[in-house]
This record gives sequence, structure tokens and C-alpha cells, in this order.
Amino acid sequence: MNEQEMIEAAFDDLIKSLRKGTTEESVKLIRRAFEFAREAHQGVRRKSGEPYILHPLAVAKIAVKEIGLGTKSAVAALLHDVVEDTDYTVEDIANLFGPKIASLVDGLTKISEAMGSNTTKQAESFRKMILTLADDVRVILIKIADRLHNMRTLDSMPEHKQVRIASETLYIYAPLAHRMGLHAIKTELEDLSLKYENPVEYQELEQRIHDYRDEHTGLYQQFIAPIRERLTESGYHYEITARTKSVYSVWSKMQRRHISFDEIYDLLAVRIVFEPKDNQPEKWQCWNIYSLITDMYSPKPERIRDWVSVPKANGYEALHLTVMGPGGKWIEVQIRSRRMDEIAEKGLAAHWKYKGDNAEASNEVDKWLAGIKEMLEQPGTDALEFLDEFKLNLFAKEIRVFTPKGEMRTLPKNATVLDFAYDIHTEIGNSCIGGKVNHKLVPMSHQLQSGDQVEVLTSDKQKPQSDWLDFIVTAKARNNILMIFRREKKEQIRIGTTMFEKLLEDMKLPFGTENLNKALLHLKLQNKDDLYVSLAKGHLDIEDVRKALKKKSENKFVKYWKLQFFKSDKDKVAPEKEEKDKVINDIAEDASDFIVAPCCNPIPGDDVVGMKIDGDKITVHKRKCPEAIRLMSSHGDKIVPVKWVSHKIMSFLAIIKLNGIDSIGIVSDITMIISKESNVNMRTVHFETKDGIFEGMIHLYVHNTADLNNLMMKIASLKGVENVSRVENLDV
Ligand code: MN
Repeated sequence: MNEQEMIEAAFDDLIKSLRKGTTEESVKLIRRAFEFAREAHQGVRRKSGEPYILHPLAVAKIAVKEIGLGTKSAVAALLHDVVEDTDYTVEDIANLFGPKIASLVDGLTKISEAMGSNTTKQAESFRKMILTLADDVRVILIKIADRLHNMRTLDSMPEHKQVRIASETLYIYAPLAHRMGLHAIKTELEDLSLKYENPVEYQELEQRIHDYRDEHTGLYQQFIAPIRERLTESGYHYEITARTKSVYSVWSKMQRRHISFDEIYDLLAVRIVFEPKDNQPEKWQCWNIYSLITDMYSPKPERIRDWVSVPKANGYEALHLTVMGPGGKWIEVQIRSRRMDEIAEKGLAAHWKYKGDNAEASNEVDKWLAGIKEMLEQPGTDALEFLDEFKLNLFAKEIRVFTPKGEMRTLPKNATVLDFAYDIHTEIGNSCIGGKVNHKLVPMSHQLQSGDQVEVLTSDKQKPQSDWLDFIVTAKARNNILMIFRREKKEQIRIGTTMFEKLLEDMKLPFGTENLNKALLHLKLQNKDDLYVSLAKGHLDIEDVRKALKKKSENKFVKYWKLQFFKSDKDKVAPEKEEKDKVINDIAEDASDFIVAPCCNPIPGDDVVGMKIDGDKITVHKRKCPEAIRLMSSHGDKIVPVKWVSHKIMSFLAIIKLNGIDSIGIVSDITMIISKESNVNMRTVHFETKDGIFEGMIHLYVHNTADLNNLMMKIASLKGVENVSRVENLDV
């Protein structure tokens, strides 16, 4: 096939993916947009070498086929890069395709500009992006399609860009897809991100999940046989499929809970999708199937999820239960009608298909976007903070509570009376002193449950307190409280700075980063603001600062360890191969000054990434560290590619966790093994025994991952030891 034929074939493919009943006129419009875009991108190629037009064609196809959008969206997707990359303007698009399509393309162009890889402050850009897209949800959906295609073709990008794009996808686009109810796309985005961020672990896990599936085919057949029988008897038309958790969800569960692959018990799930019978409501039929299944298998009572009676805010409907299957394995069963299934996979667009464009489903999203807009309009919110809050909001599980008048409000799980107060109105939040839940008096920190009826008590003498931050969970409440504190803090920084400057003057020292860093180091403070605020508040005595500045400086990590830092990628992109070579040869500097990130404690041998956020020092994180992913997604320009190259003897902190059957002497056996290792030093050992099971946590100083793995293997081979794993992140 030559290129022209390839392009025509891709176009035909797009037309075939359109909804049934798409008019001849719509097809003509789409062809016109395609011809126009092809002309506009003429002669341009993607990094992979393909003609550029194949990208908009692929994005349009994702929008239509995988998200379920219609003609206007297909046209906008075809044109999405025209204004950004060619000489055509939004006015040209408006003249040729009308104002609605022009405004979609305009929104998409603005996002691209905001998120472009040349911009330095992605977090700030992201904020602008949300402001521009709030007008039409379709802009977000097409943007997600665009990102999905870019992720699917990420191979042709140079490696350091892959990491940045992958972390941005994981941090922003996957949650966004989740919020839009695009389950299949969210899962694919997560898996692709992991694949590029941690290729080795990804491959290993993928293989293990595959093997697990193969091993359990028999069990699965045995489990579903009687279910099939009963469903058929009862006259249902249905499909049953076995599902395994996605690679990413397995990976993140292992990270979050510090558990090994073998400890994940809910890998396997079964999904039943049924064609509803006409004469009965779908909800009723779901519960009917539930009862057929629980007649045969015992359910785990606390694992029933009813999203049939009240759907999730992203539109998801289904009934989930976990039952005891053959061989003593818990198996999750998901029950959905055909319609629910389509909504689960395609999200909102499927909603529109079933309910028409102005359906309730879009109301929920509109409400959510309105909330985000409100958050944005508050002055002074720090962009990164905003991004964190935004993400929090995307992933929150929800509860439904009621006002005294019976109005339902949706809040994230663990929301308190105070969150509820802020949800009603900022002023009510600011003056909240407590509440009544189901007519009973409760403190404002009281956590709400679904179904609670909540009344807020206020006083005009009240004002926000710092301990409020400990128990509120909504972004809205947090932002309001922080805004008030920020004003106060600014004032304290001003006062503290003056005090510090006076001290330096007094000691005849120059005002600069060197002395500042020295003070921070000896006083164990994180940053200069902490220093100033502590001074202003009187939490820190000025004489202690004086003492700190008099101390001799000592370099801790310097000299022993060598890291190579590559020049960060500021130059224009060269073709893939050349660029890769360039990075390896072009070593910018030897690292003599770096900080081991305290959150994930990387050690030599770990895949690491450097971040240069504050000042000159480079903080080295594990590549998979959640904090690093967070920072990379918002400070893409601060990434410094690093690699361990050579080392002399220097020890790094690593933590391992283990458990097993308690027996006499097991602890001393373990510590014996460790003490015999010449390359490892124990710092602390903590063991706890309960009902014959022990759990231990050991802090060690090691040289690198090889020594650590070697040691872990030796411990694991001891009789009685069940699991040994490294604690990857401390703050969870
Ligand atoms: Mn694009």
C-alpha cells in the first residue's frame, strides 16, 4: 500500500466507525474536514515518519469509536491541530465549518498551547486549560482521544520525553478520563504510562498476570458453569467474561499496600452483561441475578457495591459482589445490563446516546466543572497546589448526604460537617462551629456517612483555624482556608526575612543562598519560608540561627557517590536516534551535590530521576516514586536525567518488610544473616508477633540494589519466612 492508499484506508475506517444512522450530509462534512486537514498538513510528518494527517484521522476514530462521539466532534478532531500547526486561523475554520466547530477547535488549540512541551510551567498551564475547556465537555473528550493516540505512538519519541509525557498522562489525563467515565481509556492510559516509566516491572507483571490467568482457567470454568445454567434457566440472554486486573492497578496496589504479587487476592473478576427483559426494570433484574448467584455462592457482606440504585458521579452503573468460589478463592462478580456496560466503557457519550444530548448525565459533569471553575477563580491559589486538589477531586469516592430540606449533595468519602458547610457556601464554612447530623449535635470534624441529614451551626465570631486542615477533605474547603492563611503567611515571611537579614548584617555575613542553606541544613528546615515563618512566629529563637550559621559545614554525600547528570532537554528535538546518542555522550556535569529523596530513599541500582526544583541541589527520586511522578507532571522542565555510573563505598538507607510464622529463634536467625553480610549494616530492627505470625521492619544501610536483593533472597529462603519486600515509599 502506498501512502495515499494508507490515508484513504484510514479515512474509510473512520467512516465505518460512525454511529448507525449518521446522515449522508454528516459524512460529506467529515470528508470535507478530512480533505481540508490533509491539505493543511501536506508534507508534514510525525516523528515516526508517517504523514501527519494519520494522527488527526486516528484521533477522530478514537473519538467516534471508543468514546462514542458524533459528527461535530469527528470534524473537530480532524481539524484539532490545523490552527496550531498551520497558517489557518479559527476564523477560517468558522467560515468553512461554522461557529460551533470553530469554537471546539479553538478550545483544543488553547489546550495544546497551554500544555505544549515548550511551556515551562505546566501546572499553571493546566489551570488555564481547565478554564478554556469548561464550556464544552467535548473539548475534554477529544483532548483525551488526542493524548491516547500520542501515548499509543510514544515509541517514536526520545526516551526522556517519554518519561515526561508518561508522567503527565498518569497524573492528569488518566484521572480526567476516569472522571469522564471512560474506563477502558483510563486503564489503557495508565498501563501505557507505566510501560514507559517502568518498562522492566511492567513486563514482569504483565507476564505474571498472564500466567495467573492461564493457571486459573479451570477454576473459572468450574465457577461459572452453574451460573450459566441458572441464568439460562431463568431466560436471560447474557455474556460472561473473565477479567483480570490491569497491570497498572496491580502495580499500584502493590506499591500502596507494600504487598507482593502473591498477596493480591482479587486478581480475577467475572463480568456478566445481560440483555434486559422488556417487562422489568434493569435494577430489579440486576438484583435478581445477584440473588441467583448468592443462592449458590456465599457473598462477602462488606463487599457489595450498589451503583444501580445511585450511580457514581461519573455515570457508572453496576452491581458488584464478591463471593467465595471453588478452592476457597474470593471472586468478584460484576453485574451490568448492556446499556450499563456501554456507559461503563464509553462514559458520558454513551449516556447521551441513551438519553439524548441534554441528559442528566451531563448535569453531573456540568456541576463538577462549575465547582472547578469556582476554585480557579479564587485569587492566589498556587498552581501546583491547585493541580493536587484537582486530582484529589478526580479520584475521590463519593457519599450522598442531605440538607435539612432534603436536597441531596454529593461529597467525597470521609467528608466532614465542615466540608459540607463549605460545599453549601464559603461564608457558612468560614463561620462553622459545629453541626447536627440526623438531629444529633456533633463537632465540625464529624465524618459524614451516605444518607446523613446535615444541619450546619454557625457563629459570626468564628474564623478559620489551622487545625481545620487536618480533617477537611474537599478542595473547596481547603482552598478557602489556605487562602486566608496565605495572606497571614505572606506577612510573616516579610517579618522573618527582615529578622534574618538583620542577623546576617550583625554577623557581617553576606545575604545569599550559601548562608541560607547552611542555616536550613543545621536547623533541619525544609525551605526558607519555614525559616522565616518560624522566626516571625517565635517558634525559632534568633540565637539558634546564629549558632547554626557559626557551625562548620560538612558535606555528607559528596564525593563518595557519582551520578551523571545529563543536560536537560532544552534544545529542539532532533530525530530519535541522533538524540539518544547525544544524551549519552553529552554529560553536562558530574554531580557532586545531590539529595537522596527522603520519601522513596533510592539506592544505587534503582531507576532514578533527578529534579532540580529549589536552588542548585538536585533531588534524586526513584522513577516510580509517587512524589516524583507528581513533580514531573507539573515541573517537566525541572527534570534532570540521571544515572548511577560508578561508586565507592558509601551506604544508603533501605527499608525491608517481612512476615512469616513465628518460631523460636526466627528473629535471631534473621539478624544473624544480616550481620554476616559484610556489605550491609543494620540500623534498626522492629519485630511484632501476634497469634503466631510475626511482622518485621528492618532499616538497613546498603551499597546498592544488588546487595539488597541478595540479602532479601537469603532471608526469604529461611524456614518460616513468608514474604520479604522492600518498602518503596515511606509516606503511605
Ligand atoms: Mn494532536
